[in-house]
Amino acid sequence: MIRIADIYINYGTDLQEITYEIMKEANIASRLKPDMRIGIKPNLVLARSADEGATTHPEIVEGIILYLQDTGIDDITILEGSWVGDSTQRAFKNCGYTKLQEKYGVKLLDTKRDNVIAKASKGLSLNVCESAVSVDYLINVPVLKGHCQTGLTCCLKNLKGCIPDSEKRRFHSLGLHKPIAALSAILRPSLHIVDSVCGDLSFEEGGNPVVANRIMLGFDPILLDSYGAQLIGYNPDDIKHLRIAKEYGLGNYVSDDTIIKELNEHNRPIVNTKSNNISRRLSKYIEEDSACSACYASLIYALDKIGGVNNEKIKIGQGFKGKTLDGLGVGKCTSGCKYYVKGCPPKANDIIEAIKGYNSI
Ligand code: SF4
Repeated sequence: MIRIADIYINYGTDLQEITYEIMKEANIASRLKPDMRIGIKPNLVLARSADEGATTHPEIVEGIILYLQDTGIDDITILEGSWVGDSTQRAFKNCGYTKLQEKYGVKLLDTKRDNVIAKASKGLSLNVCESAVSVDYLINVPVLKGHCQTGLTCCLKNLKGCIPDSEKRRFHSLGLHKPIAALSAILRPSLHIVDSVCGDLSFEEGGNPVVANRIMLGFDPILLDSYGAQLIGYNPDDIKHLRIAKEYGLGNYVSDDTIIKELNEHNRPIVNTKSNNISRRLSKYIEEDSACSACYASLIYALDKIGGVNNEKIKIGQGFKGKTLDGLGVGKCTSGCKYYVKGCPPKANDIIEAIKGYNSI
């Protein structure tokens, strides 16, 4: 297989279209056979609409289904088990997945009702839902978002929906990180497509979406999670389950050798700052002019973690291109500022470091 890119990124608001496009770009068809049984694992942690920042947008899964069906595949199952105390059936219905079933003839499988098999991994015996193990090709479709206990939830933690409720409880009693890493040694999805459209700032149940209008595709969950961690303001080692999974040899962190291919980079959606509660709350620290949503999202994640800036407002957006200015700017467009954070879009962890330095001036 020719290595064209390790991570593919696409931007846009037509989620079905950008998903189809990113799969085509990565030539996923070359990895598939028509008689394969495909599993798609979204994040439907609870029955809440995707625009609230917790669950996978059904339009992304629709783009995946259309792509698969165009390659001749018809055995497609969407499998998920909501968190303990919530009904997966209700999540399927409220989050738009029942409609996908009706429209495309795909199957919906509630992993809470699935057979369970015991698997040994890294000194633990874990109970895993059979369907997740038995499909020929598993596509993981997590949401990149903050998490109050683990810091980040993305590719690795999303697999927790493939274990029964009793095991979800036990994971918490085991401290979450080690069993999440051990589970990722058992379940090795063939493909990951990350919904980074409007993941929550800090809670897995949503309510504080940060709009980035972005999706990412890759094959190494640790690579994607480590990149995602940086985007929302962490260093990969800050996320304990990621560190353990890497120590297990299950993947690599993002590095200078990682090939990242961006699509539509010159056509990124511009953020609508007025539509977002968090943006409104943090806007007192920001001077924005035509900022791309992914760029603005990085700044929001950074400001939330660091609590603000001492001096004047931080500049961000394409409107600052070519201008010579005082103060701190975020992103390549503000390279005319006295201090600025490189990147297009920059990562939140780089912005945090820059703000710390700037606050100490
Ligand atoms: S640096 Fe400019 S062009 Fe690049 S993402 Fe930010 S606002 Fe958009």
